[in-house]
Amino acid sequence: MQVAHIYESGRGGEWRHAVVVGAGMGGLISGRVLAGYFDRVTILERDVFSPGAHKQLGRKGVPQGRHLHSLAARGSRILERYFPGLDDELAAAGCPLFDQAQDFITDTPAGRLPRFRSGITMRAASRALLEERLRHRLEEEPNVRLLAGSEVLGLTPGGNGRIAGVRIRQAGGSPKPEEVLYADLVVDASGQGSRAPRWLEEIGYHAPTEEVVDARLGYATRWFEVPEGFSEDWESISVLPGWPDNPRGGTLRRVEGGVWTAVLIGLGGDYPPTDGEAFLEFARSLPSPAIHDAIKSAEPVSPVYGYRRTANRRRLYEKVRLPEGFLVTGDAACSFNPSYGSGMTAVALSAEVLDECLREQRRRAPDDHAGLGRRFHERQATAVAPCWTLTANSDRQWSVGRVEELGPTRRLFHGVSGEVMALAVEREDVARTLLEVKNLLEPPSALLRPGILLPALRRTALSHIKPRPTSSKEPGENPRPSEERAFLRT
Ligand SMILES: Cc1cc2nc3c(=O)[nH]c(=O)nc-3n(C[C@H](O)[C@H](O)[C@H](O)COP(=O)(O)OP(=O)(O)OC[C@H]3O[C@@H](n4cnc5c(N)ncnc54)[C@H](O)[C@@H]3O)c2cc1C
Repeated sequence: MQVAHIYESGRGGEWRHAVVVGAGMGGLISGRVLAGYFDRVTILERDVFSPGAHKQLGRKGVPQGRHLHSLAARGSRILERYFPGLDDELAAAGCPLFDQAQDFITDTPAGRLPRFRSGITMRAASRALLEERLRHRLEEEPNVRLLAGSEVLGLTPGGNGRIAGVRIRQAGGSPKPEEVLYADLVVDASGQGSRAPRWLEEIGYHAPTEEVVDARLGYATRWFEVPEGFSEDWESISVLPGWPDNPRGGTLRRVEGGVWTAVLIGLGGDYPPTDGEAFLEFARSLPSPAIHDAIKSAEPVSPVYGYRRTANRRRLYEKVRLPEGFLVTGDAACSFNPSYGSGMTAVALSAEVLDECLREQRRRAPDDHAGLGRRFHERQATAVAPCWTLTANSDRQWSVGRVEELGPTRRLFHGVSGEVMALAVEREDVARTLLEVKNLLEPPSALLRPGILLPALRRTALSHIKPRPTSSKEPGENPRPSEERAFLRT
């Protein structure tokens, strides 16, 4: 196990040493960005990595690694920018490339989305493999060091309202005493469980306000061998839930290694089970039988993994006074209902913001980090706001049971978004816009352009006059006109 070197830095406003807390997606991408500005970057990670770690799927600090991780096209482009050649590496590791409209089946409460060559692709990789590749790439950087088995316990204040470093200890019950690792800049990327609010209080600052929207979503995931000789014209099937009557959905997708990841989700507290038989039964209960039919005789290669820590949660660091030299990024600042598949892309967008803020800081105040934190947190909040709009706004509906309980604005949103989904089932151009928004290539407002919004409004108005005719596109589907079409899920 490595022992942290104590750098003699942290005197303020210099570019000698940056420390990142956590080597998850946010820590790795931020580390890459920081390496372009600081003499040295140290990434501190509580977990210890074993060789071939990606084959173990999740590790203790990233239990979500056992579940399907879809990387949106925008996120994939940003990763390629900071890790050029990553996509080729993933391809060489056996990760297939899919067209998200041609190769994916998406069954919505309004029917099946059209299949066409969209050019919006997805490299299907497990989260563990993706993370391992980024880690290896960073290990090749001469000014970056990753100290695994190092747990950050708190912040060390310096003079003049700034942070001088972090308190660390070796993880795993080591008898070694705590140490201080000095740094000019500390970036917390320790994920959803970040203790930064407490660390700040410990040194006399206020914790940020927290906003939580919880759809009480549960995940259950099992990995299967793709049956020999299996040949269909799809590579991924998603069955989308619909508020309020159908809380269940799921996705089945091939990733590297000739395996399928089957994820079942249940909202509003209708959690999917983690027992093998009950898992299949839950799959059978979805509005479309497609996932159940595919996995019912496939060989499982893992147990069923459950996960329930799925609330949308944002900590408003941009609204609180913070010490200089301390930034919070990734899930530690803002995490999302994972079924929308936007978390890693939000992390990547934040890394771009970090890059932009550091570049600007060097230009406007090369010897000083004053104001960096405020600018970064404000811009980060703006950059990830579209992800929040997509997830939290839809999820708020799960806190009530019936359409009649919604206020007039939310009822209109519910009606119109349902009709947008129905239009997407019928029109390729609308389906393409949905895909672009889901992949964060376009802002959510792209769905409000007149060619989509006006017909959706017309249909919403008409549906109040007469019930909309059933628009089943595929056998086995059971559209329910009153449902919210949570159309942007994984
Ligand atoms: C079930 C599930 C499915 C998901 N699916 C998707 C998806 O399909 N697409 C998508 O884009 N996103 C998905 N996400 C979201 C995605 O996993 C996160 O957005 C992303 O991992 C956030 O990265 P992060 O670096 O902020 O945090 P994490 O990746 O969680 O990493 C935090 C790291 O910090 C370390 N750490 C914690 N505390 C300390 C400490 N005190 N000292 C040192 N190290 C510490 C941890 O060990 C960990 O390595 C999903 C999330 C869940 C829960």
